[in-house]
Amino acid sequence: MIYPFDTFIVFNYECKRYYGSYDMSFPLTKKNYDVVIVGAGPAGSMAAKYAALGGADVLFVDRKREIGTPIQCAGFTPDASEIEKLIPGMTLPKEMKELPKNSILCQTKKQRLYTPDLKSKEFDVNGYVLDRRLFDTELAEQAALQGAELLCGTTVKSVAFCVADAAKYTVRLSGVFGKIDVTAKVIIGADGPNSLIGKTFGLSNSEYERGIGFEYKMTGVDIDSESLEMYFGNKYVPGGYIWIFPEGDGKANVGIGIRRSLCTEKLPAREFLNRFIREHPIASEKLKGGKITSVIAGAIPVSGAPVRTATDSVMIAGDAAGHVMATNGGGIPFAMAAGKIAGETAAEAVMSNKCGRGLSVAAYEQRWRAEFGEALDASVQARKLMDKFLVSDTRMNAAFKLLPAEKLKEMQCGGISGTMKKGLDFLLK
Ligand SMILES: Cc1cc2nc3c(=O)[nH]c(=O)nc-3n(C[C@H](O)[C@H](O)[C@H](O)COP(=O)(O)OP(=O)(O)OC[C@H]3O[C@@H](n4cnc5c(N)ncnc54)[C@H](O)[C@@H]3O)c2cc1C
Repeated sequence: MIYPFDTFIVFNYECKRYYGSYDMSFPLTKKNYDVVIVGAGPAGSMAAKYAALGGADVLFVDRKREIGTPIQCAGFTPDASEIEKLIPGMTLPKEMKELPKNSILCQTKKQRLYTPDLKSKEFDVNGYVLDRRLFDTELAEQAALQGAELLCGTTVKSVAFCVADAAKYTVRLSGVFGKIDVTAKVIIGADGPNSLIGKTFGLSNSEYERGIGFEYKMTGVDIDSESLEMYFGNKYVPGGYIWIFPEGDGKANVGIGIRRSLCTEKLPAREFLNRFIREHPIASEKLKGGKITSVIAGAIPVSGAPVRTATDSVMIAGDAAGHVMATNGGGIPFAMAAGKIAGETAAEAVMSNKCGRGLSVAAYEQRWRAEFGEALDASVQARKLMDKFLVSDTRMNAAFKLLPAEKLKEMQCGGISGTMKKGLDFLLK
């Protein structure tokens, strides 16, 4: 059930006028839920949908007034068949296999990588560039249609053990509708890279490293409309990469992902990106005359998952749990898969009355790790190895020369064979 924001603004105003109070207008049907989910991104909405489908009373909450806005993503996702090939153990949710048509901006067929010395290699990748605003809204609506209650424009301020009932949590909410406490038997933190739930329940990654993503949506550019492009080189993007993703109709998402620890030149990400658009010998030709229609920024966790992602009836999923391919920052498929598993686990715990303080939701941890834990760990190892190349243009050029295009594709998912590793180690000497 989605409560339109505008309706409640008006309702709030009327309440204040006639009753002198905002409290009457809180758009919830109850105060005690089985499952409360923090965040309505891909992980949160999938968790809400599957917990509701499993029979639980679900509330999912997002501080964004409009779901998916502001966007904090470039929106690329490989086709399900590509993911299944690269990560064979992963069971992709059907929502990944049947992406909502209205949210697909562009279909891609190739990925092209440019080295610092301006050579390129490319391989086939079937994928989609999504409008994340529409995509996130669609997923949230699907959850709401299954009976989950959505509260947008509301921040979860804290979650603590319930004083009156040790088997429950008290969730403190504050936002456009006012302030209220609700209770839950199970909590799912799908609250992104700076997860409050992770921090509150000791589930954060001790070795936390994150990238900064900064991007423009541009119109009036002259790019290859079927290819993703990635550019490397310390002048434009020290210790990271710049991407150009087509969005159809002469539009593109042009962004930079960097890590401060690898930057020798201390400039804001924005300055590097502007320099790239202005001066890169290949890209500037494609982007000249383009106009910026949107500025987007966000954090990308790149240190993998913490040791534990579940504790007494609390789970974290998606970016909150470091469910991101550390080599390229892609997190949409993992957030959706983890969200689904978390929602199903929550519903099972509630339905079998096995939740509350002291009772674990360890099945969640086991399931997601069995499906894609190894791939995420491998991507962190590959990222650490690639860091040694990213800081040196000479090494980067040599690595690209050594590796065939298909191997570069595998490497993005952490796939580094023994022979590849030996070759790369040799280049590091
Ligand atoms: C610049 C950039 C580009 C990216 N490009 C890609 C890409 O092309 N492809 C790809 O696969 N991945 C990409 N990613 C990563 C991708 O965006 C994430 O992996 C994905 O969004 C994770 O989904 P999620 O549901 O876990 O978290 P999010 O989508 O971050 O959702 C978390 C939600 O929780 C809400 N929230 C947080 N705290 C609270 C609180 N206390 N109370 C209420 N609500 C709260 C937030 O408002 C947010 O809506 C990119 C990331 C960035 C920053």
